[in-house]
Order: sequence, then C-alpha cells, then structure tokens
Amino acid sequence: MVVVMKPNVAQEDIEKLAAELEQLNLKVSITEGHGCSILGLIGDTTAVDMGKITINEHVERVMRVSEPYKKANRKFHPDDTVITVGNAKIGGGNFGVIAGPCSVESEEQMIEVALRVKAAGASMLRGGAFKPRTSPYAFQGMGEVGLDLLLLAKEASGLPIVTELMSAKYIDLFEEKVDVVQIGARNMQNFDLLKEVGKMSKPILLKRGLSNTYEEWIMSAEYIMSEGNDNVILCERGIRTFETYTRNTLDVSAIPCMKRMSHLPIIVDPSHSGGTSWLVESLSMAGIAAGCDGLIVEVHNDPAHAKCDGQQCLTPHQFESLMDKTGKLVDLMGKHIVK
Ligand code: PEP
Ligand code: MN
Repeated sequence: MVVVMKPNVAQEDIEKLAAELEQLNLKVSITEGHGCSILGLIGDTTAVDMGKITINEHVERVMRVSEPYKKANRKFHPDDTVITVGNAKIGGGNFGVIAGPCSVESEEQMIEVALRVKAAGASMLRGGAFKPRTSPYAFQGMGEVGLDLLLLAKEASGLPIVTELMSAKYIDLFEEKVDVVQIGARNMQNFDLLKEVGKMSKPILLKRGLSNTYEEWIMSAEYIMSEGNDNVILCERGIRTFETYTRNTLDVSAIPCMKRMSHLPIIVDPSHSGGTSWLVESLSMAGIAAGCDGLIVEVHNDPAHAKCDGQQCLTPHQFESLMDKTGKLVDLMGKHIVK
C-alpha cells in the first residue's frame, strides 16, 4: 500500500502518521516523490482500513500495490534511483560505462586495460576474480589474488572496481576491497546470497538470470533491498531463446519495461548478450536507444589469448570507437556520461 501525502506537509506530521502505521505491524519506508512524500507500507496490509488513512488531513490519496515487489516498485519511489560510486553515477540521466576483461589474468593485463579504458572514458573497471564457469575443468579465476590485482589497477587508473561475488564466505573481503559487487546471471536466484549482499554497504550489480522473467528479476532485487541495501543496479545480459546464432538474445524490451516497473537503474551487457565482438556496438546502441543507464563491456588487451570469453572482448582500440559512438547517442538521449 502507498500513502501519498499532500505537498509541503511538515516532517513531524509525516513521522507521526508513519509511527501510527507502524503500530499496525507494518514497515514504513518514506521517500520523496514529485514534490510530496510517499509512505510505502510493507507487510500484511489486507486488514488495513484505507478510509481511516484517507481522512488524515495531510493525506492526498491511498493506493493498494498489487505487485509482490514493494521497495523496488516505482509506485513506492516515483523518481529514478541514482547510484553513486566514487565520481561515477548511474541512473536519473547519468550514464555509466563499466569496462574491462572477463577475468583478471595478470597485473600487466589489468593495468594496461584499466589505463586504456579510463583514457577512452570508462566510468568503472570490471574483471572477474571468481568465475562461474560451466565446466569445472575451465579456468576458475585467480580468486583472492585477482582482487588484489584489481586494486592495483584501481590505484593506477582511479577507476572504481566491479567484480562478481559467488559465495557468501567472501562477503567481508568484498566489503573491504570492492566498489560494486556483481551477482552473476547464474546466482540471480541464490536467495541466501541475495540476503547476505543486502546487508552490505556496497552497491549491487544484479544480472538477469538466463531464463528469468522481469518479475522474478525484480523479486531478486527486492530480496537485496528488503535487507536494507537500496543500491541495486539491474543488468540485462541477454536471455536463452531458441536462437543459437548468438550466445544469448538481448531483450531490448526489458529496458523500458523494467523502468516502468521499477525506479532502479538498468544497464546493458552487450558482450554476454551477443557473444561476439562484432555485435557489441549494435547491441550497445540498441540498449542506449531503448533508454538504458549504462553499459558493461568486456575489453581485453589481447583477446586472442584471453583465458575467458576472448571472442566477445573488444580490443582497447575498438572500445575507443565504441565510446565515441556511445557519447553521441547518450547525448542525443539527453543523458550524460559521468566518470
Ligand atoms: C560476467 O559478467 O563475467 C559474467 C559471468 O556474466 P553473466 O553472469 O551475465 O553470465
Ligand atoms: Mn565473460
């Protein structure tokens, strides 16, 4: 249930009403809407008498929210959420580009890629230290050593780092070392992990599961937010369809649909969507034109010898050209790249 207050109601009157509603065993989240405050009621509202709330002199209207997601719902929070990471911002007209290799492989590789993507205008650096691989015999990532190489690259370039967390046992390490914690497609419905990252202070980049619906995806964001972490960035990374020519199918509709359903920012991963480097530019442009708030792009200094996903990595030179086109289209969309 959502309670929309009249404009310019005193803070103490809002808090008084919130306290009364809390007496009904509900959690109340207060957000600023378009010129007025909005109280989002979370919990069992079936027995709540809407009429009694409506007669409060400071209340404009009361609405039932039928969707199972509350904190992630745009009805609870009409304005776009803006996520700030260092100097970078994503959401609400701010566009962010996260770039870097699929996996961290060496100090030389990370520093070279970090400096090149920074010079081309990237906002953050990506690189997997813990890799979710289909085969247990494939390269699993450098683990904790990889996190330290990411930190060296951060120091050299000034770019905040984004990397994937697969197990709750590394939460403290990630809390200490990482700027944005990625939850990969394969863990989108690992509910215990979602609850744990919900207790972290770092923003969470939540990738869409391989075959998940919009509602399932938002419910995963809700798991994180229900534990107190409201800084969630959604990432459309392509879904499983009957088509096998591309690695996955970029679901362009996800961008306007998720924006309608939720206030959370959404970025596009053109690399895992298409699965080949030549598709990255077209899919990026499609995502930007559909209204996304950023991109996460795989870039490698030597794609032919990458330990993971070389076929879909851009060279630093190709990334420069992508940034050139990205800048123009982002501008046309009335947004700006913040780095
Ligand atoms: C990744 O970004 O490194 C990755 C493994 O992506 P996804 O979880 O989308 O497959
Ligand atoms: Mn990859």
